Amino acid sequence: MIDPFGRSITYLRVSVTDRCDFRCTYCMAEDMEFLPRAELLTLEEMERLCAAFIGLGVTKLRLTGGEPLLRRDVMRLIEALGRRLGQGLEELTLTTNGSQLARFAADLARAGMRRINVSLDTLDEARFARITRGGRLPQVLAGIAAARAAGLAVKINMVALKGVNDDEFDAMLAWCGARGFDLCLIETMPVGEVTHRAETHLPLAGVRAELSRRWRLTPSPHATGGPARYMRVEETGRHLGFITPLSQHFCASCNRVRLTCTGRLYLCLGQENAVDLRGALRQGAAGEELAAAIRRGIAAKPLGHEFDITRVAVPRHMSVTGG
Ligand code: SAM
Ligand code: SF4
Repeated sequence: MIDPFGRSITYLRVSVTDRCDFRCTYCMAEDMEFLPRAELLTLEEMERLCAAFIGLGVTKLRLTGGEPLLRRDVMRLIEALGRRLGQGLEELTLTTNGSQLARFAADLARAGMRRINVSLDTLDEARFARITRGGRLPQVLAGIAAARAAGLAVKINMVALKGVNDDEFDAMLAWCGARGFDLCLIETMPVGEVTHRAETHLPLAGVRAELSRRWRLTPSPHATGGPARYMRVEETGRHLGFITPLSQHFCASCNRVRLTCTGRLYLCLGQENAVDLRGALRQGAAGEELAAAIRRGIAAKPLGHEFDITRVAVPRHMSVTGG
């Protein structure tokens, strides 16, 4: 699938649920209202849509949310998609907050996952509870340990927050290095209505400059098919990635689209245009008809977002579109 700007679309991110057991301050409002269950695609519908995308050239699938491991019976979907590995699908992966990982890690590895992203913004228990509004750090650390024990490669995603966790980058880099994990720092994006996002926004160029005074960071060609730009950390042999949607956006090389848990195909995280694939599916679209609906979406993929941290770009939260 080639979009109007000549970009080849090979990566689909799927939000399997908008629900979450955490309420991270930059992601959700404290009193989030979640979608009624009847609105959600069934796992079978998700699988059918994923299969259609794979048929159209998607080689990489990432399950996300909300917290994907909270979706009931999610392993059924993961196992079904795992069986498509090597049949057009090259990589199946997951972004998780880690709270349920201790329970799922071994099954994920068995289903064919090789690497996962785990979000972890701090190593301090009290701070963790504040950022996530009630999350328990030990539970997440146990999940990460289980993932490692199951042989999954782990990348830690850390949202950089001014005045909140900006004194922890060295500690996190060392912690990840000691465990063989890559680390990716992320700038907050203005998606979904939350309080105090602009005040905590931290452009990463300064962070990189600061870190390079204490760590030997060398440019790396490492690429995972995502938006991060990587440096190699010579002291640990691991990678440090920077996702900078605001300070240095990466729309020109965008290769992905996003499917929500209600079956809407969003062509850009920061734009409103979408195609309702649930409607198409439930009206009986299959085969060429479903493929045509997907292609209509790809043909409408915008050039990029117009993020400005002082105003919300789109009202839907990251957990709906699939971060
Ligand atoms: N619940 C899972 C998790 O936290 O990993 C998966 C979904 S979460 C929306 C995916 C990623 O998006 C997480 O790494 C989270 O930190 C990040 N995220 C959420 N809201 C964000 C925002 N407004 N700006 C930047 N990153 C955000
Ligand atoms: Fe939940 Fe992930 Fe959003 Fe945090 S970032 S509230 S864990 S969906």
